[in-house]
Amino acid sequence: MSAAAGHGASVRIENCGKTFTDGTRALEPATLDIARGETLVLLGPSGCGKTTMLRIIAGLELPDPGGLVLFDDKDMTSVPIERRNVGMVFQSYALFPNMSVADNIGYGLKIRGMANEERTKRVAELVALTNISGLENRRIDQLSGGQRQRVALARAVAIRPGILLLDEPLTALDAALRERLRGELNRLLRALGITTIYVTHDQAEAMELGDRIVVMQKGTIAQIGNPRDIYFAPKNRFVAEFIGAANIIESPIEHGHLVLPGGRQPIGGDASFGAAVAMIRPETIRIVEAASAPLSGTIDSVSFIGDRQRMVVSGAAGKPLTVDAPNTVKAEVGDRVGLLIAPDAVRLLPPEK
Ligand code: ATP
Repeated sequence: MSAAAGHGASVRIENCGKTFTDGTRALEPATLDIARGETLVLLGPSGCGKTTMLRIIAGLELPDPGGLVLFDDKDMTSVPIERRNVGMVFQSYALFPNMSVADNIGYGLKIRGMANEERTKRVAELVALTNISGLENRRIDQLSGGQRQRVALARAVAIRPGILLLDEPLTALDAALRERLRGELNRLLRALGITTIYVTHDQAEAMELGDRIVVMQKGTIAQIGNPRDIYFAPKNRFVAEFIGAANIIESPIEHGHLVLPGGRQPIGGDASFGAAVAMIRPETIRIVEAASAPLSGTIDSVSFIGDRQRMVVSGAAGKPLTVDAPNTVKAEVGDRVGLLIAPDAVRLLPPEK
């Protein structure tokens, strides 16, 4: 495991846009730096240009003229994929179905001419690292989806790439397995220290795996930041609503308060007058006695969602507010309740265009 550590290369894409021959503008010119060993997640809805950006980094696609791709400050823009030292894993595993697990993992090493003995050793290391011990001699078509994905990962990192590119690698798996593999993948990436670029439309995956997340919207970068920044300080309404649940309310501001139908909610920061679009995450709202909060409303619905309950409160903010409360909170439909929200939990967003 340690032998593979610290192999990460830095990546810079500079002014990389992409217009396909049919005129589709998949990517507006973007500039992005990825540090050695960093895991960067490209997150966004279908068609926003994530895969196009990944394919430009891989060397499967050329950027429009003027775009540059640099690895460790070296210009790689027109270097073909096989000479970029990248490992790739896709949603579809692209393994050889009737070859054994061990032969699949060792394939890249074999075509690079690595001697048998060394190859066997490397494959054994990777089998252990990706938790597939005992399956070495099975054929791929005798494996489960989760096992195949582990083999695909082991094969991608076998060549000790400087950069690992993953395109929705867990999407084909069921929810429980996805969650488990996410945790495993996280540990694996830390252990290997490879620079990783990970494409997903799943925000939970992005949060858990990303050192930083790039949120993409219609071919542009909407925001880059660490998971906490993206979640708590989204730059605009698109990012706020794409990541987690968000209450978005429009309101006048007076003396540092939102002036709402259900009361006056203090806000952080220095906005004292004007009008705002404000975002409040459902779990930052506390349900209290009606008299003990500046803002109050009426419970419209309560639904139990396992580790917490989701309530909808009307009459407080001009539109129904979603509130996620611990299961210990006792409140019923029709109850008049107070809503306690810390001023800093109210995030002001730029006005809508
Ligand atoms: P998804 O999550 O659905 O894979 P994505 O964010 O990865 O989406 P891309 O695959 O990068 O999106 O596609 C971005 C846009 O470019 C889409 O509108 C897509 O239809 C278009 N596109 C992708 N490849 C080509 C191509 N070879 N020729 C023309 N248009 C393309």
